[in-house]
Amino acid sequence: MDTTAPPYPNANAAEADGSRAPQAPDLRTRRAGRRRQMLAMVAGCYVIDAVILFIYAQAGTVPSTIAPSYAAIGVLTVALWTVLSESGFNDRFLDHYLVVPQSIVSMMMTVAFCYIAPEVSIVFLCTLYLVVAFGSLRATPRQSAICWTFLALGLAGLFLLTDKPLGMPTGSGLERLATLLVFLLTIAGCMFLGIFSSGLRETLYQRGQKLQEAYRRIEELAELDELTGALNRRSIMHVLDKEMARCRQAGKPCSIVLLDLDWFKRINDTHGHPTGDEVLRTFAITMFANIRSSDHFGRYGGEEFLLVLPGAPAEPAARLAERLRQIVADLDWSAFSAGLQVTFSAGVATLRGDETADSLLARADHALYGSKANGRNRVTGT
Ligand code: GH3
Ligand code: MG
Ligand code: MG
Repeated sequence: MDTTAPPYPNANAAEADGSRAPQAPDLRTRRAGRRRQMLAMVAGCYVIDAVILFIYAQAGTVPSTIAPSYAAIGVLTVALWTVLSESGFNDRFLDHYLVVPQSIVSMMMTVAFCYIAPEVSIVFLCTLYLVVAFGSLRATPRQSAICWTFLALGLAGLFLLTDKPLGMPTGSGLERLATLLVFLLTIAGCMFLGIFSSGLRETLYQRGQKLQEAYRRIEELAELDELTGALNRRSIMHVLDKEMARCRQAGKPCSIVLLDLDWFKRINDTHGHPTGDEVLRTFAITMFANIRSSDHFGRYGGEEFLLVLPGAPAEPAARLAERLRQIVADLDWSAFSAGLQVTFSAGVATLRGDETADSLLARADHALYGSKANGRNRVTGT
């Protein structure tokens, strides 16, 4: 079977059947390789069936000409499909396996042999089912429906056109061996189809999981600031709007804290930009470690950050800001660079009536300006 095929056999089926598809040369080469594998497998199946017919012939069930003529016609049709495939004819179609024509030719040949040698029709009937079942692996739902309908019509024609008994020979030991082989090979074919389908389902499930995970990660990355891992400005503003609406609806207070690192330009100039980055990262980690999971922390811009504290009245919000200020100021920053000290100034504002986010932020900014004007490293409320 085609092990290099795409995990979803209907991959080409998703495309409209029959229409033309532009293809890159390497894709054409890969497809031709897959078709070669498939045709070799089909030829192998004809030969195996011919061997079984040969055993029936040895048992005297059918004339000895049946096996070689079945093998010859089977291999000849495969040779014709191979010539078409190698000439690039198949590449003109999105369904480059030519599922429907190949299945129909195989079915016609098998039904014809069933008519010619009805004594061993079990061989051909089992083959008919396997032809359509394997074809379905590559077919679109529409193509599958066409093939199964054709099979039903073929069988109807066979049963209506011939009055000879359709046989499953078990009279002699040799016949029982051949019939057993027919069943064993059919079971093997069904088993292969089952295992192949389960493998596909498993692969599809795993790919789905991976896609979901990747999608979740993309969404996460789109929300986060790359340097600090805090929410980016767009996200924190979105969160602010959402939390303001939620708190209003629940009749709860909502406070924000606008924080700005003090003399940060000087930190960059004195200790280097990479140290400045490290300070921003450590500052963010420190914030995350000291706020509740229901609080939100985002980078408002540069060295300015915004804390959104849903449910927090003015006093507790100011107390939290003061505690954070103390923690940051008390950290031993000299580990990053000798003599490094980091502090921040903050402005706290609590949502009023039907105030807008812009107005709330403007009040917090005003309070922050007050902290800066009064000497920095302090928290100011409104
Ligand atoms: P103030 O106390 O008044 O806030 O003074 P300041 O120096 O912190 O303020 P100013 O706005 O003059 O400087 C902010 C500096 O922050 C300038 C800019 O280079 C630096 N900065 C902004 N984003 C980054 C960043 O991602 N990494 C680093 N290392 N520095 C940054
Ligand atoms: Mg600053
Ligand atoms: Mg600033």
